[in-house]
Amino acid sequence: MSPRRFFVGGNWKMNGDKKSLDDLITTLNTAALHDETEVVCGAPAIYLDFARSNLDPRIGVAAQNCYKVTKGAFTGEISPAMIKDCGVDWVILGHSERRHVFGESDELIGQKLAHALESDLSVIACIGEKLEEREAGTTEEVVYAQTQVIADNVKDWSKVVLAYEPVWAIGTGKTATPEQAQEVHEKLREWMRANISEAVADSVRIIYGGSVTGANCKELAAQSDVDGFLVGGASLKPEFVNIINAWH
Ligand code: PGA
Repeated sequence: MSPRRFFVGGNWKMNGDKKSLDDLITTLNTAALHDETEVVCGAPAIYLDFARSNLDPRIGVAAQNCYKVTKGAFTGEISPAMIKDCGVDWVILGHSERRHVFGESDELIGQKLAHALESDLSVIACIGEKLEEREAGTTEEVVYAQTQVIADNVKDWSKVVLAYEPVWAIGTGKTATPEQAQEVHEKLREWMRANISEAVADSVRIIYGGSVTGANCKELAAQSDVDGFLVGGASLKPEFVNIINAWH
């Protein structure tokens, strides 16, 4: 069990409409959520305002992406300043779908991260290895390199949550076992101890993502270095409430 405040993010991805999101929001607003758990829902950009206006204030809202500057001729993009202007305090950056479907480089992710933090957003920064990298035995190398890019762009770690999401586990129904998740989280924390600081290693929440469900969340949450979850598919269902309360 982790000594850090448990953190559960929902990543709605490109799902939902006003009706279904309204139903989900009502479920969350009326559920008995443990106060100790910090909850943040990642809404599609067009529904950020809707989500922030309707979700109970104790539930945070996150954008799922943002650009690296405040404003300008960048058709289709949104800036951290716009996200803040909607009363939203979080952004998810470096998600594997941004990296691998939309081709975002580590460099771009680093620039976005630095600008989001400068703009006073908090960030869920995502990392994770692909199946072939795990099979080739390079998981550590990959996640350390991704974390290094994040570290190069962070001054204040109190505004960052690190999400370890093995790509092979995202949306596949193949969850990392509690042992596999714990092993990588523990190594990431050791890496932070060696390369950032003792205080950062002890305080940063490292959350797990990849096919987390109401059925597997308790075992994962029981691992000492698993400080919460980033949940995709199951965050759109009432079982998200069980995941939020998994820590107990
Ligand atoms: P999943 O997605 O829970 O549907 O596997 C997790 C994520 O992409 O953050």
